[in-house]
Amino acid sequence: MSWDRFDYTETSNCACGKGKVTRHSYREDDDWNRTRYGTYGMDIECPECKSKYHIESITRHYFCPSWKGDGVSVRTYLVPNGFTIPAVISARTFVFSKIDERIVAEVPYDGIKAALDDMVVNKYTTRLQSPYSRQIVQMFKKALKKTRLSFITPVLAEILNNYDSYKWTFEKISQFRITERERIESNEAKIAEVLKKSFELNFQS
Ligand SMILES: [Zn+2]
Repeated sequence: MSWDRFDYTETSNCACGKGKVTRHSYREDDDWNRTRYGTYGMDIECPECKSKYHIESITRHYFCPSWKGDGVSVRTYLVPNGFTIPAVISARTFVFSKIDERIVAEVPYDGIKAALDDMVVNKYTTRLQSPYSRQIVQMFKKALKKTRLSFITPVLAEILNNYDSYKWTFEKISQFRITERERIESNEAKIAEVLKKSFELNFQS
């Protein structure tokens, strides 16, 4: 399988408007009609801007269905010398493979306790009263295709017995999110501060 490569140059206005910035790019196609793009260098072809700025890019990942794109946005700037764009901080994604870890992460302690009481008292999934019980039954159904309470209640009892041994409980994650949000917000403010002094490049072939 081979890729056919096609090199091309794109240009953008520079910050002062008297010159330009060029970007060297390529496009590759294979026998399966797949295409990939890349860049391998940029030049500030303006003496004035070259003495004041350097080039930096900022990459952000966002949710995007695969048929619409790769979920990555890259924006490129002339950044004044002496400044640099801080790296983007993204919200941490928690992924748990085990059902008990997932329940502990998504349902508060009181909710797990209420669900267990509810299941013990009401005995059948159809008679459950607490929204937490229904949430937990749905999680078991999705993950293990099991909804029998005789299977679920021992798991919940075990969770409550060992609650302190879990690293990421609902309560700890909530606390983590508060601190994380503050960290992201102050970082975004720093990014915005640098971008305000910078000039965004808009490359066209
Ligand atoms: Zn210029």
